[in-house]
Amino acid sequence: MRVSGSICVWRAGSPFNDSERELFEYLASQAAVSVENVGQHELAVREAVTDALTGLANRRHFDERLEHEVERARSLGTEVALVLLDIDDFKRVNDSYGHQTGDEVLRGVAGVLRTTSRDPDTPGRIGGEELAVVLPGAGLDGAEEFAERVRGRIAALVFTPEDPRSGEPFSVTASLGVSGSRGAVANGPDLVAAADVALYQAKRAGKNRTVVAR
Ligand code: GH3
Ligand code: MG
Ligand code: MG
Repeated sequence: MRVSGSICVWRAGSPFNDSERELFEYLASQAAVSVENVGQHELAVREAVTDALTGLANRRHFDERLEHEVERARSLGTEVALVLLDIDDFKRVNDSYGHQTGDEVLRGVAGVLRTTSRDPDTPGRIGGEELAVVLPGAGLDGAEEFAERVRGRIAALVFTPEDPRSGEPFSVTASLGVSGSRGAVANGPDLVAAADVALYQAKRAGKNRTVVAR
């Protein structure tokens, strides 16, 4: 057992007898069980909202966060933006270097989203190789800047194949779609749909770019 705290019991005059000591031992073990339960509970809560591979918000949690922020923006009269990201030619990464290296790429790209995000932002994994970020308070221009920063940082990553025989170190690119809520119209699914159309346009226009739904 790991000790995570201590309680001191002291009495002037008469020393504790055996049955009192036994009682203290029992109480201490009960306290330890409670502390452990709290830890287990916190872990379970964290796992329920987290994607295991990337450590980002999972789809369910992401959708909740998005809806919450859209609702908040509506009631406060502020904005919220959504950035959708899809890795370019990711199937080729898996085919050339194996699934494990593909997973490593996903983790690397997710890391860029995490480190580029600020405190109120929620980066998440919403599909196999599709990631997204909710940007509370951001307008389209701010979100586009964010997306371009992410795109540049992804292109700068260098990955080493799991099996060195399958090739040299390599890089990947990503395409991004940006949408935003202006006024009272948007809801979460509408924002996702608009960003998805923009992302599709980015792919059609040649990939490795950001398109904003205006
Ligand atoms: P595009 O540039 O048009 O996006 O092409 P693409 O190859 O990235 O797109 P496509 O949707 O055809 O392929 C996505 C691939 O992502 C297929 C699937 O095997 C892979 N993938 C999805 N989830 C995971 C995952 O968790 N790990 C790995 N390694 N690959 C994944
Ligand atoms: Mg895809
Ligand atoms: Mg892709």
